[in-house]
Amino acid sequence: MSQLIYPLRGGVHPPENKAQSLQIELQHSAIPEELVLPLGQHIGAPAEAIVEVGDKVLRGQMIAEPNGPFSAAIHASSSGEVIAIEPRPIPHSSGLWGDCIVIRCDGEDRWVPLQETENPYALEADDLLHRIRLAGIAGMGGAGFPTAVKLRPPATSPIDTLIINGTECEPYITADDVLMQERSDDIIRGCALLAHILGEPDNILIGVEDNKPKAIAALEQSLKNLDASEVPGIDHIQVVSFPTKYPSGGEKQLIQILTGKEVPSGGLPAHIGIVLQNVGTTVAIWEAIKFGKPLTERITTVVGESLQQQGNTLVRIGTPSDFVLKQFGFSEQDCARLIAGGPMMGFSLPDINAPIVKTSNCLLAPSHQEMPDPEPAQACIRCGHCAEACPASLLPQQLYWYAQAKDHDRLQAHNLMDCIECGACAYVCPSSIPLVQYYRASKGEIRQAAIDKEKSDRSRQRFEFRQKRIEAAEAEKEAKRLARKKAAEAAKAAAKPAPGTAPSDPVAAAMARVQAQQDDPAEQLAKLERAFNNATNRAKSAEEKWQQAEADDQKAKLEARFKQAQVRMKDAEAKLTEFKQKQQSTSASVDSDDPIERAKAKAQQRLSMSPLEKARKNLETLQERLKKAEQKAAEADDDKRDALNAASDKLKQKIEAAEQELKDLQASTTVPEANAVDPDSIEDPIERAKAKAQQRLSMSPLEKARKNLEAMGERLKKAEQKAAEADEDKKAAMDSVVDKLKQKICDLEQEINELQAAAPAPAPAPAPAPAPAPAPEKQSAVDPDSIEDPIERAKAKAMQRLTMSPTEKLQSSLKSLEARLSKSEEKLAAATDDQRSALEAAVAKLQDKIATVKQEISEAESAENAGKENTPEPEVVSAVEDAAAAAIAKAKEKAAAQANMSPEEKQQAQIDSLKQRIDKAQLRLDNALAENSDNIDAFKLGLEKLQNKLAELEAE
Ligand code: SF4
Ligand code: SF4
Repeated sequence: MSQLIYPLRGGVHPPENKAQSLQIELQHSAIPEELVLPLGQHIGAPAEAIVEVGDKVLRGQMIAEPNGPFSAAIHASSSGEVIAIEPRPIPHSSGLWGDCIVIRCDGEDRWVPLQETENPYALEADDLLHRIRLAGIAGMGGAGFPTAVKLRPPATSPIDTLIINGTECEPYITADDVLMQERSDDIIRGCALLAHILGEPDNILIGVEDNKPKAIAALEQSLKNLDASEVPGIDHIQVVSFPTKYPSGGEKQLIQILTGKEVPSGGLPAHIGIVLQNVGTTVAIWEAIKFGKPLTERITTVVGESLQQQGNTLVRIGTPSDFVLKQFGFSEQDCARLIAGGPMMGFSLPDINAPIVKTSNCLLAPSHQEMPDPEPAQACIRCGHCAEACPASLLPQQLYWYAQAKDHDRLQAHNLMDCIECGACAYVCPSSIPLVQYYRASKGEIRQAAIDKEKSDRSRQRFEFRQKRIEAAEAEKEAKRLARKKAAEAAKAAAKPAPGTAPSDPVAAAMARVQAQQDDPAEQLAKLERAFNNATNRAKSAEEKWQQAEADDQKAKLEARFKQAQVRMKDAEAKLTEFKQKQQSTSASVDSDDPIERAKAKAQQRLSMSPLEKARKNLETLQERLKKAEQKAAEADDDKRDALNAASDKLKQKIEAAEQELKDLQASTTVPEANAVDPDSIEDPIERAKAKAQQRLSMSPLEKARKNLEAMGERLKKAEQKAAEADEDKKAAMDSVVDKLKQKICDLEQEINELQAAAPAPAPAPAPAPAPAPAPEKQSAVDPDSIEDPIERAKAKAMQRLTMSPTEKLQSSLKSLEARLSKSEEKLAAATDDQRSALEAAVAKLQDKIATVKQEISEAESAENAGKENTPEPEVVSAVEDAAAAAIAKAKEKAAAQANMSPEEKQQAQIDSLKQRIDKAQLRLDNALAENSDNIDAFKLGLEKLQNKLAELEAE
């Protein structure tokens, strides 16, 4: 039964121009010197090269593997050596270059070992599809869709019709015609194989236009020659011829002609149960399955009047077009333009060296007469011919307007993507408007916009995801912070001693004692008196030195120091006087007749009380109030008695609580009896350690420092002894220990000096003309380094340091550090590999310390210079006093404000203060850099330290 034919909607009848290339037999193109194989010869992702430059390859060897499901493998078309993998001109309408594998052919054309399959029809569909994929087969009719993908339709779309496309409707091209004449048997065999893969569809149609009578005859002959034993299902195969009309060969158009069905807009043939393959692809599949031959060659029509000979040639994929054309006597001068494909759907070849690829069905090289330049485009006259010619039922004229306006939404609404770019509309357009060019450009823009949108969507998603992650992290951090705060509060509450129990933490108890002492007005008075005495002594000593100085510059320096000491002395005196006046006025005001004055004075008095005094006072007041309340209750009427009794009960409770508070305070401020016992007399080591710790708690800082100095002196003695007796191997390590101990002793000496300076004078002498200070000059006249006993030496040094200014002390420390650095560097130079790393660390540490001390010296000198500039004139002294008083007041204010702050607020205040210090340090560093000062390194180090501290605080 003959197959029904359905008329093609639209279409045109351009001159066929097919006879020229059918004059001669199929040629076999020579193998070129170089084959250029683009990695992207198909729709989808370019293949990935699996060879390297220098590799030897054989014909049929895979040189690039599919890169994902929508990709196809590439094989060497002849044997030779890979000489490059680089961008080269490729046959593409964009004119862009693409990555290519370049093979220098050896002329031997040796195949890889091929594996023939005796009965391909016995293989499973999946196995066949896998072999097709590995053979690198992509649609050879022009689109280049990976064949294995096309042969695996969705499971939801059962295939009932297989169509083999032998239409070749484009003018000039006869490659498929020749193939059908030459390889009709293989087309039938391949067709049966495709039917096998697709599950034996009901209809198997080979569609051929009636302008190819020889091809039709050959196919029909093959159908007669072959039988079902050789080709299963051959009886179902039909060759269908139909009237020639362009573009019958379009996929959707051929389906419509042969089945009357229409592929929905945006859909695939598989969606209506149809699969369509080109005749060239069908032969390639047969060759790949039966003989194991991958796709390495194809038939290409070489046609046009600029050639001496026109015809078809079997050419290796990758052969440069120039090489092919030359074999047909190509004349570049005569050629109007070189076209890849036909005159309707082809495109100008951007480079004559662009290679033949899997989809190259034609090289058209027309002469100027044969294909003159197109007429200049005129305005659209709205004749509507284009719409009549359109086989896809589109409105080309509308599409043209929207393409010009770049109105992508309307273009898509008018199904631009269904346009098969057949060029029928442009062919009939009386205004010579290059309509297809507009459509191609618009399609490219729409695709690019879609890619850009996808990219921006992905970026937005990433951004949103990141934001969410940051917010989650912030929330987690906040939750942790709150949990820490809660835990701290709980711990604080738990640590608070229960009523009736003494504080268990000895450190807290010691701190409470210190606080109680500090709050005691008597203690405050003693402290202020001590400070005044010390300041007076220092002023006296400074004056003596100034008087004794001989050199002028020395005299000026010492005079400045004396004036500074005077300022400090006056400040101490003012504070002492102020405190005494306050005390007097408070006690006077408490007895005042004015109740407001009295209340104020009492409040002031309470402020100056220690916690212990406050607790006692509180208890006394409550007891008095209770007495009065009980008296009133006894005298009261019945109506009021209950209320007064209730008030008395409440007061009793308060008294109980106050008594308990007093007991607690007394317990925490009482020095334990254990201190009276000498810890060294206790035998049990744990008890001894406890007693020692208890003893240390009761020591003053000065006593502790002295104790430490003694212990350190002992350790130094022992270490020096060991260092003297040590072997060469251990000597460096022991020397390093000795150095460290010396530095610790030096630090302790400094600490003792400072503590002694702040400590009360041995005999408080509030008289305005104090006795001269103990003669430190006498002590310093002896060189401390000449004393042998390290403890005595340390003491002598400490005494010497007492007479030094802060800058001199720092300079002395610097000298000592530099001496140690020099020694350590000497040791490092002579060190063995084992000792090197320890010594290097020690040297680095010393260098750091030196930098810090240098910075401190610089700061101290600046301060001294500022003092020097400000002190000479007596009237300036009062300004200094004011500034000092203001600074002290500011510091007090700050301390008071901090006392009321929450821990978070305190931390924030610290951060703010650090930031200010960093700004100042940065300024100092900038100035030092501008002046190229010696202090640059020291300032840098200081700045770094502050920045690190800030980072730590902020991290908390
Ligand atoms: S054929 Fe050309 S001139 Fe006529 S309507 Fe279409 S675009 Fe306009
Ligand atoms: S609009 Fe597209 S499909 Fe229609 S005739 Fe023009 S090129 Fe062909």
